[in-house]
Amino acid sequence: MSTNAEWFERAQRVIPGGVDSPVRSFRSVGGTPYTVASGRGATVTDVEGRTYIDYVQSYGASILGHADPRVVEAISRAAALGTTFGAPTPGEVTLADAMVDRVRGLEQVRLVSSGTEAVMSAVRLARGATGRSRIVKFDGCYHGHSDALLVAGGSGVAQLGLPGSAGVTAGAVADTLVAPYNVVPTLDDTVAAVLVEPVAANMNLVAPQPGFLEGLRAECDRVGALLIFDEVITGFRLARGGAEDYFGVTPDLWCFGKVIGGGLPVGAFGGSRELLTYLAPSGPVYQAGTLSGNPLATAAGLTVLSQLDPEAYATLTDRVARVARGIEDAVASSGLVALVPTVGPLCGLYLATSSTPPPSNFAEAQVLCDNGLYREFFHALLRRGVALAPGAYEILFVSLSHDDATIDATLTAVADAAAEVAAAR
Ligand SMILES: *Cc1c(COP(=O)(O)O)cnc(C)c1O
Repeated sequence: MSTNAEWFERAQRVIPGGVDSPVRSFRSVGGTPYTVASGRGATVTDVEGRTYIDYVQSYGASILGHADPRVVEAISRAAALGTTFGAPTPGEVTLADAMVDRVRGLEQVRLVSSGTEAVMSAVRLARGATGRSRIVKFDGCYHGHSDALLVAGGSGVAQLGLPGSAGVTAGAVADTLVAPYNVVPTLDDTVAAVLVEPVAANMNLVAPQPGFLEGLRAECDRVGALLIFDEVITGFRLARGGAEDYFGVTPDLWCFGKVIGGGLPVGAFGGSRELLTYLAPSGPVYQAGTLSGNPLATAAGLTVLSQLDPEAYATLTDRVARVARGIEDAVASSGLVALVPTVGPLCGLYLATSSTPPPSNFAEAQVLCDNGLYREFFHALLRRGVALAPGAYEILFVSLSHDDATIDATLTAVADAAAEVAAAR
């Protein structure tokens, strides 16, 4: 058992589609996924011993790079003390403290085990606190796979061309309203909350236009609805204090995940002390989890956050800018067009045959993501040892391990891959 094909064949026998999350599947790009044996820094190595420069980085869960020695050490130390107790531990308190310390307006957080749980719980809290039912989400934003939010989703939902999901009842989504991104919807007093990715990073990358987030804040205030930032990607990646820090707009509730687990399963949601008091055990909104605030995950997350000083964000932003301009130039030399929008350390990638403005909503993103160029480019790059996500709706995740040499190697591969794709057309 040593080839990718053999592992995938075996996986397909016992795991549906051979993957535990649809975004890992190669369904939208074709071919057989590589099965990862190990990762280190900016790279992953598959079971055949091939090493790739990795821009998946666990879809943003990794920001320092794979197997960071400080994180590995923290996890080992925590594991030796016991992995889960069902009682409070210091680790969850210190991680919560670190988060509250970094994000202006965030007074309390409850830790959970995934981003899905974080958003699902924040929505329940918003409904419980306001006594209202309706939630507004935006077309192409992904908020995890809870029933009520699995409509007009980005990421794998978009990648597989699904409008939503079978198995979600009409009743479950009856109170979910969908609006186009970058347009402030007019609300009424039936709306409990507006849920938004402050930078849309699951329809590839769509930046909020100036005034959009401010407009949402004002419209929520006008009708007494809560504004929820889903910062599962942007949290502690966009800036030390996340989207509030970057854009200066303060939500009522925050959802986190990915970065804060340091590669282990964590999510969190939080807001003001007053709002969080609605949660059980102090309040009537029930929410729970056997492994919530897990000692391994909190140790990993805290170690990661402690590395992320303002200089780290400046470094990451510089590297992303280099990657972005470099990819645009490298692809341009082939005659094709790469559109690489960036928002600080977040980096998108759209391919086109002629120059087009960056998308401002899902409909515009779809035109570019579905033009067929991505799958060709993806494979041409993978053959050259650079791994992007196997789907056009995902962004590029650059970690602090993507140093200049790694970026140089990436850009050489991009130029060759683009030339190959252009020549074949
Ligand atoms: C990944 C993601 C989620 C879901 O997080 P999981 O840990 O996969 O459940 C929710 N919201 C956004 C914005 C995400 O990118």
